[in-house]
Amino acid sequence: MVFVPVQCPECHRTDVVRYGKQANGTQRYRCDNSDCRRTIFLLQYHDKGRLPAVKQQIVAMTLNGSGVRDIVRVLGVSSATVIDVLKKKCQRSNR
Ligand SMILES: [Zn+2]
Repeated sequence: MVFVPVQCPECHRTDVVRYGKQANGTQRYRCDNSDCRRTIFLLQYHDKGRLPAVKQQIVAMTLNGSGVRDIVRVLGVSSATVIDVLKKKCQRSNR
């Protein structure tokens, strides 16, 4: 069981409960904050790798000796994202 912190995209709190599934099987979540306008949302893994903070973490973990599979497990991004970030980083430092 992997713990994934789920955050409401509207109020950024983690008072979030699971709220059934979509027809395609995607897990839905509901924000438990009564002051929040957002009620039901989906967890979007594929957006995670685009965040600059995640890219920095990928580079930092690589420098600390973590392999691609470690990074995938810890950060919850895809291995394609990790490889993509590292390739771009290499190209930049070779210039
Ligand atoms: Zn919320």
